[in-house]
Amino acid sequence: MGTVILGSGIAGISAGYHLNLEKEPVIIYEKNNDWGGLCGNFTINGFRFDKFVHFSFAPDEYTVNLFKQSSEMLEHIPFPSNYYKGIWLRHPAQNNLAPLSIEEKVNIIDGFINKKMKPIDEIENYEEWLRVQYGDYFAENFPFKYTRKYWGVEARELETKWVGQRMYTPDIKQVLRGAFETQDECFYYSKVMKYPKTGGFRSILNKCRKGLNIEFNKEAVKIDTSSRKVFFKDGSETKYERLISTLPLPEIIKMLDNVPSNIKTAAANLMYTSGYMVSLGFNKPDIAKYLWFYIYDEDILSSRVYSPSLKSSDNVPQGCSSLQAEIFFSNKAKIPPADEVIKNTIEKLINMGVCEEKDIIIKDIRFEKYANIIFDHNIYENRQIILDYLNSIGIESIGRFGKWEYFWTHQAFADGKNTAEKEGKYAAANN
Ligand SMILES: Cc1cc2nc3c(=O)[nH]c(=O)nc-3n(C[C@H](O)[C@H](O)[C@H](O)COP(=O)(O)OP(=O)(O)OC[C@H]3O[C@@H](n4cnc5c(N)ncnc54)[C@H](O)[C@@H]3O)c2cc1C
Repeated sequence: MGTVILGSGIAGISAGYHLNLEKEPVIIYEKNNDWGGLCGNFTINGFRFDKFVHFSFAPDEYTVNLFKQSSEMLEHIPFPSNYYKGIWLRHPAQNNLAPLSIEEKVNIIDGFINKKMKPIDEIENYEEWLRVQYGDYFAENFPFKYTRKYWGVEARELETKWVGQRMYTPDIKQVLRGAFETQDECFYYSKVMKYPKTGGFRSILNKCRKGLNIEFNKEAVKIDTSSRKVFFKDGSETKYERLISTLPLPEIIKMLDNVPSNIKTAAANLMYTSGYMVSLGFNKPDIAKYLWFYIYDEDILSSRVYSPSLKSSDNVPQGCSSLQAEIFFSNKAKIPPADEVIKNTIEKLINMGVCEEKDIIIKDIRFEKYANIIFDHNIYENRQIILDYLNSIGIESIGRFGKWEYFWTHQAFADGKNTAEKEGKYAAANN
């Protein structure tokens, strides 16, 4: 009996690896038949697709070195593109208005000059934040639409603390310059995006995964904290001394008996997006023109499309290329069936001039229930109530969905490491 970790995503792998370094007995239980969670991938006839876009921009030396020891890393300068009403604009669109019609440019610049002023700490929601940053016309035609597509909600339903450095706010000179000429500067919040040369994104974890004891096809369905047992779907069970969970908060709450009703309500009120991945393989090497691009038009279901073959040629057979489109819905929305989504995605990519039907040799669609957490106005209160409760019953909840935080991979990795190295690590077991 030692530490049990639920989930073999990057947070679980990191916790397991760092506990192993301390010679603690640890076993990871994973519901799927492979490791990696959202960092994982799948291969169809030699075409490898990650689950969603995935690059690493870990800033700290320790993590960068561990990832580098796992795999040789390729470096990409992020120059994504944007598709808007049949026109391609460099990213971010607000700095690169040059290809738009005069009418659109005048509307955007006029909105930018006359935008509402308000101190940032008095802004009440994301809609207001966008109007104050970009002016009404741009806000309404770009990020409002993208918010509906990517977050599945209206901008006014979101709070704003999550935005941080993620959105670029230009000054008027940059807007004007970008309206006359193509900008060569990279304005993306990370200047280099790293990706393993071989093996797909999860190869960043090869070193950490090696030697870990992971049991697959073990879906936890019930936890009894008084007897310190986890029960699995296959009828088996295990005892634990310490329990670290990377499972989504709404799911773990359902696995516990006698949960107070306010905790259940808080868990039921957490909002998140689910995502479809439409993966396409082509019989030609040069279909993908951009590492990734955003789509604003709302009749096109995909919000973002990226190219696994541009991330690394190791992701495709020789002479081929690939794309993966991401389509998101909030947990409050009615999710359309897979056949409707794949049809819309392919038809629209063809209409956009991205590819031709005759070049497609792989078509696949998959669904992930938990993609992004949604920063609605009650998120902080709801998640704190749940985290306090889990803590009080001796469950250490970590990772993107275990902390209910907008973690990038290096942050989920750091969460696993910090948890493993926590002082008094067996304290929870003695509660
Ligand atoms: C669209 C998208 C794009 C992203 N792009 C990037 C990017 O470019 N760069 C970046 O750094 N980050 C990116 N991220 C974020 C990154 O994917 C996450 O931060 C990270 O993978 C989360 O890891 P985790 O271990 O916390 O969770 P997960 O990867 O979700 O791991 C949880 C694990 O628990 C398992 N599990 C679930 N339920 C059970 C159960 N009942 N029993 C047993 N096991 C169970 C799951 O199968 C999974 O393996 C992106 C995320 C999304 C959605």
